[in-house]
Amino acid sequence: MSTTSVNSPGAASDPGSVHDLKAQTTVHVRDGVRLILATHNEHKVRELREILVPLVSGLAPEHIIGAESLALPEPVEDGVTFEQNALIKARAVASATGVMTLADDSGLGVDVMGGAPGIFSARWAGRHGDDAANRHLLLAQLADIAREHRGAQFTCAAALVVPHADGSMDEHVETGVMRGHLGFTEHGENGFGYDPVFYPDGYDRTNAELRPQEKDAISHRGKAFRQLAPFVEHALALGTR
Ligand code: IMP
Repeated sequence: MSTTSVNSPGAASDPGSVHDLKAQTTVHVRDGVRLILATHNEHKVRELREILVPLVSGLAPEHIIGAESLALPEPVEDGVTFEQNALIKARAVASATGVMTLADDSGLGVDVMGGAPGIFSARWAGRHGDDAANRHLLLAQLADIAREHRGAQFTCAAALVVPHADGSMDEHVETGVMRGHLGFTEHGENGFGYDPVFYPDGYDRTNAELRPQEKDAISHRGKAFRQLAPFVEHALALGTR
């Protein structure tokens, strides 16, 4: 959806900051790796491989690894937007490895709550990643809200960071949105997070009742990464790492 493209501080046009990226990388990545996914979630790595490999010529599954195997410290996600947090995650891995990196950040925004939980989606009930508690709290907060006011959307920002030998980094962010509404009770076993309470537009099943391929075809994450694929292909064609 939205697109931003920026050169990070330390770009080649600033002669005072030009330096050898190899000297500042802290982690060795095995030869043949062309793209790192800055996530420790193996499910996401598999899902993003399935999206990207068919769309990016020259990219094979073995060229892609998740950040899990690199044992890097996770950066503090102190951005206030999905875009900022996706860039924080991608920059941290790209600068530590010197390898092109993708990261995403996503969440649910409820219309009547002014876009909350938003960037706090993963820890809405207090404890990071407690999906069941997050859903229960949200349903309780919306208990008196009628169907026509239960509109909501998932948003995903997907960031590509391409490090260069002179220390500069090219950055590009794509955003994908999935509109729908929230139900009153949970349905379905698939997916994660808020999937059992979210009905995507045009479906009378929750995300958790869709098959994984059905959800990928319409999901915020699928859209954002499909939009990003041409930029990954372009960067790979330029021969960065
Ligand atoms: P992350 O940035 O992808 O880790 O997502 C942050 C939080 O947003 C997750 O912990 C979920 O609560 C919620 N979320 C993001 N994407 C989805 C989705 O596709 N289905 C359900 N919940 C999601």
